[in-house]
Amino acid sequence: MASTALKQILSEAQVQAGVRRLAGEISAHYDGRPLTIIGVLTGSVVLLADLIRLLDMPLRVGVVQARSYRGAATTPGALTINIESLPEIRDCDVLLIDDIFDTGQTLAELVVQFGRFSPRSVRSVVLLRKQGRSRVALEPDHIGFEIPDEFVVGYGLDYQDAYRNLPFVASLEASELAEGAGA
Ligand code: 5GP
Ligand code: MG
Repeated sequence: MASTALKQILSEAQVQAGVRRLAGEISAHYDGRPLTIIGVLTGSVVLLADLIRLLDMPLRVGVVQARSYRGAATTPGALTINIESLPEIRDCDVLLIDDIFDTGQTLAELVVQFGRFSPRSVRSVVLLRKQGRSRVALEPDHIGFEIPDEFVVGYGLDYQDAYRNLPFVASLEASELAEGAGA
């Protein structure tokens, strides 16, 4: 966990400017209509907290749990989704919010699962999208930043539960990653 292995790729100011831009896009799209914003735990919590304070439409907030990494692994394993904590979304405009769009499987699966509850609409916002990694047809509706295919931490994103509290986004050098470790 040597901090020297972190390479900052987005400064705190850049991240905050990106979040303001996302808030502007989202406000323009919903034009004052009530919104239900659903954060994908745990990585989205920092973006969720910052973003909702920049939105002024009537807003409900919920969370779902989705995990595809275990322990020290930095490549996705089987996806586990827990929607028990989901609020009522029937006839609601739902905006899913996640930290990063990598293969896209998490958001694509959540959109399918949410559809069963008959929401009025389901859209998505991510802070980051890794280039050249998508394995699904879905595109996030709002994207903060396109980034290269590197493992990143900070602003909600973790490695072995560390680094979520960094106010910037950094890549972690390959030598720091226990590739394939964990289950
Ligand atoms: P996807 O289903 O799009 O492949 O993966 C999305 C999830 O994988 C994200 O919600 C995030 O939890 C995790 N993830 C993907 N890439 C990274 C990364 O570079 N760093 C971290 N910390 N998590 C990542
Ligand atoms: Mg996640």
